[in-house]
Amino acid sequence: MSDPVRDLMTQVVEKNPGEPEFHQAVHEVAESVELVLARDARYRDHMLFERMVEPERVVMFRVPWVDDEGRIHVNRGFRVEMSSAIGPYKGGLRFHPSVNLGMLKFLAFEQVFKNALTTLPMGGGKGGADFDPKGRSDAEVMRFCQSFMTELQRHIGPFTDVPAGDIGVGGREIGFLFGQYKKIRNEFSGVLTGKGMNWGGSLVRPEATGYGAVYFAAEMLGTRGEHLERKVCLVSGSGNVAQYTVEKLLDLHATPVTLSDSIGFIHDPDGIDREKLAWVIELKEVRRGRIAEYVDRFPGATFTPTPRAGANPMWAIPADCAFPSATQNEINAEDAANLLAGGVYVVSEGANMPTVPEGVEKFIADGILFGPGKAANAGGVAVSGLEMSQNAERLTWTREQVDERLHHIMHQIHEQCRITASHYDAPGNYVHGANIAGFLKVADAMLDQGVV
Ligand code: NDP
Repeated sequence: MSDPVRDLMTQVVEKNPGEPEFHQAVHEVAESVELVLARDARYRDHMLFERMVEPERVVMFRVPWVDDEGRIHVNRGFRVEMSSAIGPYKGGLRFHPSVNLGMLKFLAFEQVFKNALTTLPMGGGKGGADFDPKGRSDAEVMRFCQSFMTELQRHIGPFTDVPAGDIGVGGREIGFLFGQYKKIRNEFSGVLTGKGMNWGGSLVRPEATGYGAVYFAAEMLGTRGEHLERKVCLVSGSGNVAQYTVEKLLDLHATPVTLSDSIGFIHDPDGIDREKLAWVIELKEVRRGRIAEYVDRFPGATFTPTPRAGANPMWAIPADCAFPSATQNEINAEDAANLLAGGVYVVSEGANMPTVPEGVEKFIADGILFGPGKAANAGGVAVSGLEMSQNAERLTWTREQVDERLHHIMHQIHEQCRITASHYDAPGNYVHGANIAGFLKVADAMLDQGVV
């Protein structure tokens, strides 16, 4: 790493103490951006990367709410508005007990580059709360969402900041959040994406991130003249991204064999077929149960609890492809080595930053097809962008139209990453390709707009 980038990292760590995920995300992009700075002094002289690591605005607020027994709770809400250089802030809301400012800054930072790659005019942001919807009644979740939006509505709008879902925020939560926004602001607008189909949503938005991660894997395989048919695939998570990753893998005749949640994973060597997937979706979205129940219903499968530390045995199962679709840093260095030893040569990250830096290094050194989350999971926000377009036109596109555009956008993202990586003498390195292509788009807009 060059001296200026090392100095920058020292400053980032000093200025943002106790935010390890944010440091990790900035460090990874800095390693790519230094290739640009070495070639073109304009980007360095205008302090563009230094400006990008500083959020344009952060709001943090109290979220008080009352549970079904009449007890009062207080959570902490956030919105990190990272960059509006190429469009309104755009990025999801996460409701999970682990949420804190550093985590949301990492996610907002990643979002800036990801959104730039989609070819659509969207800036980057992220938000959420340390609220755990698990085990809460629908009425409790509604009261929480209403309290959260009572404050958030001051800071967002269809031309300012357009949040969406993320971990713990699905269709139910978006509905409650939208209802409260509409009531307070007395306007029906496209202020959130991931809306219900009969009130402004887009077809294929729920499926988009998972579908996109699979399209990206197919594009990577295509560079070697291969396809996904009959490939054995490991999928982690069992939420939105994981469910639709499995669905698209089935469409392309691959064989998904695992799913997980925060307790453990199931391994179904016969493959998770459409009937089993429909059962999982009902389990997770309606009954809100645990993935361990899968083995009671489908006895050919096994359930293994995830160890608290060390390697996750799920990543040691022999396979061709892996789709980490749960959460950040779920693949540690040992897991990465196990994946390689088990024959995995395609990793397409549905989750944000699911692989630790040492793991990414192993994948790149081994020359496997590694699609980083910024590129591979950009399909979700891309269809959010298409939802915004449909809202602005007051039209609804067909399922086929949206899926075709999603597919085309994933192709374009892949091409940008591939071509940019080669241009910077790192052929096949999708990490450099994604970071640099995203950086250049945002940096050029910032150059045009002056020091603001
Ligand atoms: P969901 O809440 O629908 O599902 C999350 C899944 O991951 C659940 O199975 C959950 O298990 C598991 N999980 C969450 N936290 C942990 C943890 N700390 N350890 C182990 N497992 C965990 O979220 P999504 O599917 O929407 O999001 C998954 C990932 O994809 C996240 O990284 C998100 O940022 C990323 N992403 C999502 C997009 C979207 O459109 N939804 C867009 C782009 C990226 P449990 O139920 O036990 O908590």
